[in-house]
This record gives sequence, structure tokens and C-alpha cells, in this order.
Amino acid sequence: MRAAVVRSLLSAALFLAAPVSGFADWAFPVAEAPEPPASATPVAFAKPAARLPPLRFLLTFDDGPDAGPDGSTPLILRQLADNPITPGIKAIFFVQTAHPRRGGGPAGRAQMRETCAAGHLLAVHSGLVEGHVSHTKLAPTALAASLRAGEADIAAQCRHVAQLVRPPNWAYNDETRGVYQGLGLGMLMADANARDGKIYGWHISLRRRSHMVSELEQVRAAIGARRLQPVNGVVPVVVSFHDTNDYTASHMTEYLQILVDAARENGLPLADPPFYTDARAAERAALVRARDGDYARQSWP
Ligand SMILES: [Zn+2]
Repeated sequence: MRAAVVRSLLSAALFLAAPVSGFADWAFPVAEAPEPPASATPVAFAKPAARLPPLRFLLTFDDGPDAGPDGSTPLILRQLADNPITPGIKAIFFVQTAHPRRGGGPAGRAQMRETCAAGHLLAVHSGLVEGHVSHTKLAPTALAASLRAGEADIAAQCRHVAQLVRPPNWAYNDETRGVYQGLGLGMLMADANARDGKIYGWHISLRRRSHMVSELEQVRAAIGARRLQPVNGVVPVVVSFHDTNDYTASHMTEYLQILVDAARENGLPLADPPFYTDARAAERAALVRARDGDYARQSWP
């Protein structure tokens, strides 16, 4: 009797220990738990690839707003809200708050208001009237003043300003990072890039799919090396787009499908839902990623 109890306790303990051995800090959804090995291979020797935690895409858009009835930002917002993959996606928009053709004009201000009213997060990309200027070209005091001005511009339209910054042209150095830190802003770079920014040309559509597959190959390597840690059970994977690109805007739904397909092609398990739909959770995840400062990409276009 007593031996039987011990045996059953022991097997229960083994059962509990087996699925988490090696990766004690994340749990698998039941549907994604690895199959028990067919042979007598001990669990400890199972391929690490089978044990990757699920990922969730955290979408970010730079350079906007691009306002107006035919603007790219509203076109993107409509597709994030209503699409067959994950309805109600919430994203982070890194805006140019003072450039007259962006957030500095009446249409741009209205767009910033509408973007946050739709539940998305806004954060500063540039707070300068001149717009897209590398922060590394500004004196630290001027940079700090421009970021504060940018935050005030967002706060004038939105209840909340995400405490994040995405440097224009991805340009940063110790000095600019010191300024961000002094203002309590987390610098958020990206794991995957849609290659839709100025440097890669405005309308490149060819090889979008194969490009994203190779971007997610790097993501897989980074998750496998445990450089990207789960936040609340899922690994937030930061993807960067430009909401000023009208090609991106008119193909947003297709991009969502490409991301999901590219993850599957790389054997990456997807969280349910595969995109953030909760802005608070997205912001928490972004802040953790900014704090950790490690990305699948090592350089940015
Ligand atoms: Zn930019």
C-alpha cells in the first residue's frame, strides 16, 4: 500500500518535471506540447527546437501619421481592426509630432487623436518641426527638448504617451541613450523589418515573403539562443513597418498573413492570438524588450 503511494507520487513528480526540464520559465499551451518521444530517448535529449516558447508579433509603425481620407495611416488602422487573421490588433506608432505634413498640421493632429482613440499606442519618433533628423546629430539638450516637446504634442491629442522612443534612421549612441534614459524612455528597435523604409525604396514588393522568412530565421535563432525571453508566457517579436508607405498600407492584411506563414515555415510556434490585441500588454512587452536591449537583428537598415 505504502509502496504504491510512493510509486504513484514518484511518477506524478516525473510527469510534472518532464515537460519543463531545461526551460523551467515557460509553459506550453496544451496544443503545442511536444509529442512524447516514440523511442526510449530521455526527455533531456529532446531537440531544443521542439521546445521553443510561442511568439506574438508586436507591430510598430514609424514616420507617420499619414492622414486624410486617402491617408496610409487610416488604411492601416482599418486592416488592423478588421482582418481574417487577428481582428483588433493593437500596434505602436512612432510618430513625427511636429513636421507640418505629419503630426504638426491639423490633419496630422486629428489622425494622432484617432489612432489613440482606436486603442493604439503613440510614442515619439521625432519632435522636431524639421521631422526625420537623426538624434545623433542633435546636441543632448536639444534632443531632450525635442523629445519632451514630442511627448507634449502626443499628450495634447491622447490620454497616454508610451514611454518608448524609436530613433530616426535607427541611429543612436551612448549620448542619445543617456538622454533617453534621463527622460525615462525605453529605446525600442526591431527583430524584423519589412524593408519598406526610405533606404530600401518606396514600393519594393518582390520577395517580400522570402525576405520575411529570412527575417524570422534570425528570430528563431535568437529565441533558440534564449536571447529573446518570454513576457507573460509569450516571446514578443517586434516587427517594424512605415505607415507613410502607401504600398505597406494597401497590403497590410497580406503582410499579416506573410508573418504568420513565415513563422510556420521556420517552425516557430505562434501564440493565440499571434498578434497583440491588448495595448497594455503590448506596451509592457515593448518596455521589457527595450530594457533587455537584445534583438534578433544586430543591425538595422
Ligand atoms: Zn523613421
